Amino acid sequence: MRQIAIYGKGGIGKSTIASNLSAALHAMGHTVMQVGCDPKRDSTRILAEGKFIPAVLEEHRKQLRLGKDEYAINLDNVVFRSPSGIYLVEAGGPEPGIGCAGRGVLTALQILKDLKAFSTYNINVAIYDVLGDVVCGGFSMPIREGFAEEIYLICSGGFTSIYAANNIARAVQRLAKRGDTGLAGIICNSNANETVEHAVIPDFAKKLGTPFVQFVPQSPVIQACELEGRPVVWSTPPIHWKRKYFGTLQKR
Ligand code: ADP
Ligand code: MG
Repeated sequence: MRQIAIYGKGGIGKSTIASNLSAALHAMGHTVMQVGCDPKRDSTRILAEGKFIPAVLEEHRKQLRLGKDEYAINLDNVVFRSPSGIYLVEAGGPEPGIGCAGRGVLTALQILKDLKAFSTYNINVAIYDVLGDVVCGGFSMPIREGFAEEIYLICSGGFTSIYAANNIARAVQRLAKRGDTGLAGIICNSNANETVEHAVIPDFAKKLGTPFVQFVPQSPVIQACELEGRPVVWSTPPIHWKRKYFGTLQKR
């Protein structure tokens, strides 16, 4: 199973990129599962016709209230099959004011593993969409536990996004013990300051010793598609968007 993780600062475009990669891989014939690991739980929305799907932690809490454990969870209640056939999961978050978001991600991924979610649905590509503002134990768990093997960092030319990407890169270098786990590259999701981005981001990738994989321009088409609840790779024109996303996958 190919295991891809998308990390980056909140709002940088992780879910948009993860969803387009999922849609592109699905179109290439793969059985894809996208796992949102952000308490915002909106990772998979554009693949679910604009709807929010139930979250693993919510379902887990429901079972705990009934005095049951995670094995009482029905997989079909937490793994949503999108109309196009992509499997979608949202880890969810803790109840506001109680608990820790990172710890929640850890619990949700453990539940998926224990319930054998990947083999049950014959998944051959898993994409984890992980919040990376804070690289605490919970948010780095997909790396540490070997869930994430091919790790992409998303940033723009904005300082805070590069700062977050740099912190994540350090966590990856520290935690990726297995030989097949590591940084797969940097994807620049433009915040419209293209001159700066072209000057700075490839150099940043070089300093981290990782490939600069793709440049995704800022585009109103992405937001229009988001409002319609679908990824850009499903829109008919403009074709060059599809190439951008398929290109990301080919440059492994
Ligand atoms: P994250 O998952 O990192 O928090 P999102 O993928 O939800 O970020 O993106 C945040 C917002 O930015 C969304 O409204 C999305 O449509 C928009 N967005 C993402 N990438 C682009 C882009 N390349 N051009 C224009 N808007 C974008
Ligand atoms: Mg997101």
